[in-house]
Amino acid sequence: MWKYDPKSEKADEFINHEEIMETLAYAQEHKADRVLLEEILSKAKERKGLSHRDASVLLACEEESINEEIFRLAKQIKQDFYGNRIVLFAPLYLSNYCVNGCTYCPYHAVNHHMPRKKLTQEEVRREVIALQDMGHKRLAIESGEDPVHNPIEYILECVNTIYGIHHKNGAIRRVNVNIAATTVENYKRLKEAEIGTYILFQETYHKEGYRQLHPTGPKSDYNYHTEAMDRAMQGGIDDVGCGVLFGLDKYRYEFAGLLMHAEHLEAVFGVGPHTISVPRLRNADDIDASAFTNGISDETFAKLVACIRIAVPYTGMIVSTRENVKCRERVLELGISQISGGSRTSVGGYVEPEPEDEKSEQFDVMDNRTLDEVICWLMELGYVPSFCTACYREGRTGDRFMSLCKSGQIQNCCHPNALMTLKEYLVDYALPHTREVGEALIQAELGTIPKEQVRKIVMENLVNIEKGQRDFRF
Ligand code: SAM
Repeated sequence: MWKYDPKSEKADEFINHEEIMETLAYAQEHKADRVLLEEILSKAKERKGLSHRDASVLLACEEESINEEIFRLAKQIKQDFYGNRIVLFAPLYLSNYCVNGCTYCPYHAVNHHMPRKKLTQEEVRREVIALQDMGHKRLAIESGEDPVHNPIEYILECVNTIYGIHHKNGAIRRVNVNIAATTVENYKRLKEAEIGTYILFQETYHKEGYRQLHPTGPKSDYNYHTEAMDRAMQGGIDDVGCGVLFGLDKYRYEFAGLLMHAEHLEAVFGVGPHTISVPRLRNADDIDASAFTNGISDETFAKLVACIRIAVPYTGMIVSTRENVKCRERVLELGISQISGGSRTSVGGYVEPEPEDEKSEQFDVMDNRTLDEVICWLMELGYVPSFCTACYREGRTGDRFMSLCKSGQIQNCCHPNALMTLKEYLVDYALPHTREVGEALIQAELGTIPKEQVRKIVMENLVNIEKGQRDFRF
């Protein structure tokens, strides 16, 4: 007798295989049931999210008119909750030493031709200065799992170093952390080091598939990995970032698993994941992505993003430079709220790009543009690039952040913060054309701030930024 219980602390019960299989069968059976599909869409229009079952029916649907409605609704929800802001970040690879055997990752321990590197604190400093000189304010640090080379003390030291670097007007104001599953005690230490979001990709929710993809190393323990977000929240981290590596297993299975994970966190901790990432498997050193048979097309990828947007309207969504420009443009309008830009995925890559014959990137980057090019592109598409980190620094994390979203105050808070941080970028780092486009955009966007008093303060702050002051926020 199987048991599915979103409130359970056991991975097998909150991500229950049989429940997912029943969900997929239900979705298959009803995917052309117009009455049910219309009913689910009306529920979705209330903007309170959908259950994994309902959302799976939408994902399975092949009716053209319903799919058009799904895309239309995803765009509307994106616009209502996130407006036209897109938050920018960059990954910073600290170490590619790894003891795990993940068959899809070039860091796997038996990849003997991958040159292993770990940044010293001086190298972290140089990488961070390079990132600050590009204009970045928000990083996601990345590391392989190796208790000898990259123990938690090393990660904590790096976080501390990063926050301490102030080069010219540069500052990293939020460090998100993507490291292997760890203990409650270590999550507490990360919280004390003032990290932003703790990010951990599930890779796959399919337990049997997971076993085969992770044959050796500590990461092979599916339950320990799947229960990591619970431990992170118990350790006091209330912003956690989930994700699946699409291409490893069947995407419909992963979609249901991902939503069940969100339902579980909401049921137990009162708040779902802060972000959901949607990485797709890419070629890398020693990894041939085409050897994995579950790759998804760009169209399916877009549908996935739209369905996630509808199912969890308050959760930020992240797309990285694993996707090319065209694909990024498509999914931005369907629900993505954060993107990386100007990324290097090798250890030390911001100071010294990897020579071609010594590949140590974590995956092939599909969008190789500079941050300035990405910023200019976003603005020309009508988006407001944002370097805002205010919520977490003002203590608006977890459910407090969600209340901000739900109260509709984003336009008086996030939007002004986006404009002020964009202004900092334009003054300090932008190329002349980008600056010109940006200044015009800020002028036009000022008019969309509803409260007159807020608008007045923003206008004063914009002048103060011109004069050299920094770091204004609501
Ligand atoms: N070591 C940490 C862990 O085990 O979760 C996280 C760091 S790892 C640098 C970040 C993520 O890169 C992984 O969680 C995985 O989803 C993704 N990744 C690994 N190999 C990849 C590939 N070939 N293509 C795209 N993404 C990949």
